[in-house]
Amino acid sequence: MDCFRHLNPFRACAGLRGLGYLMVAIVLAIVAVSYYAVVIYSWGPMLLDGAAAAAGAAAVLAAFHVLLSLIMWCYLMVVFTDPGSVPENWRHDAEDSGDPASSTSEDQGTAPRYCSRCQNGKPPRCHHCSVCDRCVLKMDHHCIWVVNCVGARNYKYFLLFLV
Ligand SMILES: [Zn+2]
Ligand SMILES: [Zn+2]
Repeated sequence: MDCFRHLNPFRACAGLRGLGYLMVAIVLAIVAVSYYAVVIYSWGPMLLDGAAAAAGAAAVLAAFHVLLSLIMWCYLMVVFTDPGSVPENWRHDAEDSGDPASSTSEDQGTAPRYCSRCQNGKPPRCHHCSVCDRCVLKMDHHCIWVVNCVGARNYKYFLLFLV
């Protein structure tokens, strides 16, 4: 079994770190192209046309700017919000495991987990990200588009960004 431990395919994911903020630049470039196409090329010039066309164009441009600022806010929040780290020297509470009222069916029978990379305890639903090289609380996945892990503290913004 020891040989399989050395053949961890997820180690290759660490190479994704090299992409870094290039992905953020690509996202901003896509937004810039969309902005040019919608505001400067198509709807913007219509503001100078007749009154009826100008009113329609103004409504479309207002909606576009509201949606654009919401998506950019969500995106930047996912990028710059810490997804949630495990406090240093975190350990499972020994009293919790013996108290049937506080244990759920999910964590019954599971041994306390330990991350050998971070040299720290692992709370339930916490995973070690091989790209960030750290443990992340309630980790969903490492997203290369946001150069960050999606975890407990930025999941809400990630979901809103997708919507
Ligand atoms: Zn870890
Ligand atoms: Zn990560």
